[in-house]
Amino acid sequence: MDDLKLYAETEKKLVSLIENVKTFTEDVCMEFGFDKCAKCTIKKGKKTTSENIRFNDGLIEDLGEDATYKYLGIEENLTVEHEKMRHKVEQEYTSRLKKILKSELSPKNKITAINQLAIPVITYGFGIIDWPQYSINRLDTKTRKLLTLHKIIYRNQCMDRIYLPRREGGLGLTEINHAYRATIVSMGKYIKSSTDMTIEIVRDHHERLPQQTSVTKLAENFGGVILENTAEVYDNPATQIARKKRKKYTEIETDTGKQGWEQHKRAGKFLEELKQEYIDRDASLQWLKSGRLPFDEERLIVASQDQGLLTNRLKKMAGLQANGQCRFCHSAIESPSHLMSACPILLADGLYTARHNKVCKYLHWKICGEMQLDRATNIWEHEPPPITSNGKVTVFYDKDIQAGRYIKDKAIKPDIVIWNKPERTALIIDVTVPNDFGLNRAEREKITKYQDLKMI
Ligand SMILES: [Zn+2]
Repeated sequence: MDDLKLYAETEKKLVSLIENVKTFTEDVCMEFGFDKCAKCTIKKGKKTTSENIRFNDGLIEDLGEDATYKYLGIEENLTVEHEKMRHKVEQEYTSRLKKILKSELSPKNKITAINQLAIPVITYGFGIIDWPQYSINRLDTKTRKLLTLHKIIYRNQCMDRIYLPRREGGLGLTEINHAYRATIVSMGKYIKSSTDMTIEIVRDHHERLPQQTSVTKLAENFGGVILENTAEVYDNPATQIARKKRKKYTEIETDTGKQGWEQHKRAGKFLEELKQEYIDRDASLQWLKSGRLPFDEERLIVASQDQGLLTNRLKKMAGLQANGQCRFCHSAIESPSHLMSACPILLADGLYTARHNKVCKYLHWKICGEMQLDRATNIWEHEPPPITSNGKVTVFYDKDIQAGRYIKDKAIKPDIVIWNKPERTALIIDVTVPNDFGLNRAEREKITKYQDLKMI
């Protein structure tokens, strides 16, 4: 037995109630915690000061005029101290948020920590403490500002993407506004569906409250169509119905988020490409799901996918400068995709080749490990030789293929060939690092390149 509230008409009746509880407590060999108890007298709706209640072994103090009593972590006096609680909750939330962001966790773990350690401070009181919409919005804005400051998200990031789950390509942060609405929808549904006598009293009370503080009225406002369908009320326990409505509400919010991202004029293009049938969607989002990138690297990739890097094109679009040309070649518009894979100057400088070779080197190192061939212990020490063999398997690295017959144009030089002697098979690996929007074309080009090798 814990967290008990006793209500009585008179002081005398209250003492008798407490004595009952006290006797019961002692009967089950528990102790009565006087220091955690408080008493509050209300006369004609107003709080009045009254005597402490004395017992042989202690006393229950009267709750003073300004003092509050903490019941289940929420400050109460005559009623719940809404404003005071909101202020306290916000302070605690911000302090936890800052501590998490200053930690050395990876961006994904920081977001998980915020969802599990900071946001519950606020969500705990939903439905008990009144939260005006502007306060909720302010909390979400404040969170995003701090995330930008600590390099988790980039400035002017597509908002919907922050709040989508990672398997959907988002960052997986819980939006306080969604959490609030989902809680109210499910709580409102619970109050409406429960057949419990005491909950019925709660329902009547909420029906009489004004629109902005009544949980049932707010639930109708937020939930709308989801809350309709009264047929199930008598079939299921109220908790189950409430849980289902919450799930449904979250699903709808996720869909709305996806639409928002899709309609975003910069970031939406990536999502559109992700939907193409030649794209392995799950594999493309794996890096985000596993979230191993440290510090601000995740932000950098998300920003470039969203075309949100501060390139000259974006600066021109934002009216910050008149010229949108590439800072290196001055011949094309400077967009993230131009910089990453289309700038002739960067190509001539060998930057794209170096990136390509790094990928090949990594693949070679992995293949050698898999095939039990010689390799350096660490990837950064690995220098692939042209031929690696163990008698059974031979791996060729960046070596001409002797085709044995005429090949159009020029000799073929794939990045890696795995030649399996017993099985008489050759696996040709040719690496290309195209930009997000050139994947299909790059794949087709690579396949066409090797068509001449086909046995007719
Ligand atoms: Zn350029």
